[in-house]
Amino acid sequence: MSLMLNGMGVSKGIAIGQAYVLYREQPEVREYAIATLRVEHEISRFNRARQQAQHQLQDIKLQIADEVPQDITQFIDTHLLMLDDPVLCEGTIKHIRHRVCNAEWALQAQCDRLVKVFDDMDDEYLKTRKDDIIHVVQRIQRCLTNDADADLANDTKDHLKGRIIIADDLTPADTLLLQHQKIAGFVTEYGGPLSHTAILARNLGIPAIVGVHNAKQIIQASEWLIIDGQRGMLIAEPDRRTLSHFRGLRKDEKQRRKNLFGLKNKPTISKDKQEIKLFGNIDRPDDVRTLRQFDHTGVGLYRTEMLFIERNEHPSENEQYETYRRALRALKGSPLTIRTEDIGADKEMNRSSQHGPMAHNPAMGLRAIRRCLKEPDQFLRQIRAILRTSAYGPVSMMIPMMTCITEVEQALELIEQAKAQLKQRKQRFNPDMPIGAMIEVPAAALSAHTFAEKLDFLSIGTNDLIQYTLAIDRIDDEVSYLYKPLNPAVLKLIDITLKAGESAGIPVSMCGEMASDPLYTRLLLGMGLKYFSVQANTLLEIKHIINHSHIDQLTPPIRKLLKLTHPDIIEQELLQLNKKYS
Ligand code: PEP
Ligand code: MG
Repeated sequence: MSLMLNGMGVSKGIAIGQAYVLYREQPEVREYAIATLRVEHEISRFNRARQQAQHQLQDIKLQIADEVPQDITQFIDTHLLMLDDPVLCEGTIKHIRHRVCNAEWALQAQCDRLVKVFDDMDDEYLKTRKDDIIHVVQRIQRCLTNDADADLANDTKDHLKGRIIIADDLTPADTLLLQHQKIAGFVTEYGGPLSHTAILARNLGIPAIVGVHNAKQIIQASEWLIIDGQRGMLIAEPDRRTLSHFRGLRKDEKQRRKNLFGLKNKPTISKDKQEIKLFGNIDRPDDVRTLRQFDHTGVGLYRTEMLFIERNEHPSENEQYETYRRALRALKGSPLTIRTEDIGADKEMNRSSQHGPMAHNPAMGLRAIRRCLKEPDQFLRQIRAILRTSAYGPVSMMIPMMTCITEVEQALELIEQAKAQLKQRKQRFNPDMPIGAMIEVPAAALSAHTFAEKLDFLSIGTNDLIQYTLAIDRIDDEVSYLYKPLNPAVLKLIDITLKAGESAGIPVSMCGEMASDPLYTRLLLGMGLKYFSVQANTLLEIKHIINHSHIDQLTPPIRKLLKLTHPDIIEQELLQLNKKYS
C-alpha cells in the first residue's frame, strides 16, 4: 500500500527510484575469545580489513578525482595515512596477541586508548584530531564485519545510480559524492532549506527533501519511491496511477526546461529595455562548466569555502591562486566575484583544524570576516591569491558577514597590506580590483549607506539576512516555517540596501537564494534590483521572467505591496501580481 510523507522540498524536480537507506551508525563491537591457534589468523583478518579500507579510499579517489575539489581528496589522503599508522596497527595486533581476542575488539580498545591520549592533550589542535581516528577505525570495523554497505563513499557508481537516498543527514561533501554516483534524489531526516547541502543540491539539480522525520525507520530498502522536490512530498510504494501521474509531471518539467534553453546566451533585458545583469553562483571552478550549460555569463558569487572545508590545513596561497585562476580561465573573460572564506556555522573545516572548544552558537560566533580578522595571516594569504588572480581578468572580491564599518575599514587595511606585499614580491595584480561587502546581517543593511561610501559594490545575502533578521536558524527544520523572505522587516532591509547603493552610485546585487526563486523576481525588479546572481539551474527561468517584465509598470504596484504589514497578505498579493503580469 502506498504511503505519503511530507518534508520540506529544498531542490525541485521529480525523482522516481528505489530507496537506498543509508545507515551509518557505528557497528556494535563485542569481545570474544579465540583459540590461541587462531591468533595469527585473526591478525591476518585485521590486516586484510585494513587493506580493504585502503583500496576503498583509493577507489573513491580515482572515481572522483576529476570532478571533486582537491580539498575533499586531501581529506581522503589523511585517512589513507592513518590506515598505515604504526601506533594504531601495531597496538591492535599486540592487543590481539595479548588478550587472545577478536580483531574488532582489539581495534576498538586501541582506538579508545588513542582517543583518550588525544583527549588528555593540552594542545587543542591535537586534541581534536581524534575525529579522524574514529572515522578511520569505523571504516576498518565495517570491513571486518563485511558491512561495506554502511558507508556511502564505499558504494560503487552502479550501486547508487538512479537510487533515492534516505539518510539522517548529509554533508556538502556527501552530496558531491552522491551526485558523482548519479543518484536520482535524496531525502534527509534533518536539515533546513538554506543549509549548504540544500543549496548544493539545487546547484547540482538533485531533487531533494529535508526534515522528513523518522524516514529511515519508515522507508524500507529498495522500496519504490517518488519524491517531489518542489512540494516536499515523498510517496512510498506508489500505485500505478500515481506513478504514471508523476511520470507525466516529470516529462512536462523536462519539456518546460527544454523550451527555456531557447534563451541561452540571449541578452537579459526587460520589455521596457532595461538591461539586467544576471550572473550565476558557484562553489568550485568546475561549476563554471554547469553554468555554461545554461548561459555564457559571469559569476556573482564564488563561495570559496569548498576549498577549506573537510580538511585540516588552510590551503596555501598558491593552491588558492591556482584554483581561482581555473575558475577565471573557464569563464573566458566573463566577470568573477570571489567571496572570501565564509567558514563557520554549517560550513566548517575539520574539527581537528579548529582551536578552542566548539562554539555554542556557531552561526553567531567566529564566522567569516570575524574569523579572518582574528587570523590575519590566513586572510592575507587569501587576499593575495585573489589579487594575483585579478591580473588576468575581471575579478572582484566580496567579503561576507560584515556587521560594522570597523570591519570594513580593517578589511580594507589588510587589502592594502596585501597589495604592498605583492608589490614587494614584484607580483602582478589589478590595483583597482573592485571590493564589495555582503549585506547579510540587519546591522549591515542599516549601515549600508556608510559601507557604500567605502566600497565598490554591495551584495545582499538573503539566506543569512533572513536568518538573522527573523532569528531563525537556517538549518533547523523545526523553525523553517518561520523563514519568510516576504516578512516586511526583511523587505525593508533589502529596500534600504538598494537605496543606499543607488544614492552612492554603486551596484547592489543579490546572491542569496531569494534571487533564484521565480516567485520573487518581479518583486525584486519592482524594488529596483538590477544585479541578480542565481543558481545555474534556475538562471533561464529567471531570465524568462525578466525578459517578459515591464519594470516601470511593475514599480508602482510593488511599492504599494511594500507598504503591507502581513507576510501572508504580501504573499497573496505577490502571487496575484505574478499571475497578472506573467
Ligand atoms: C547568503 O547568506 O545569502 C549567501 C549567499 O551566503 P551563504 O549562503 O553562503 O551563507
Ligand atoms: Mg551568507
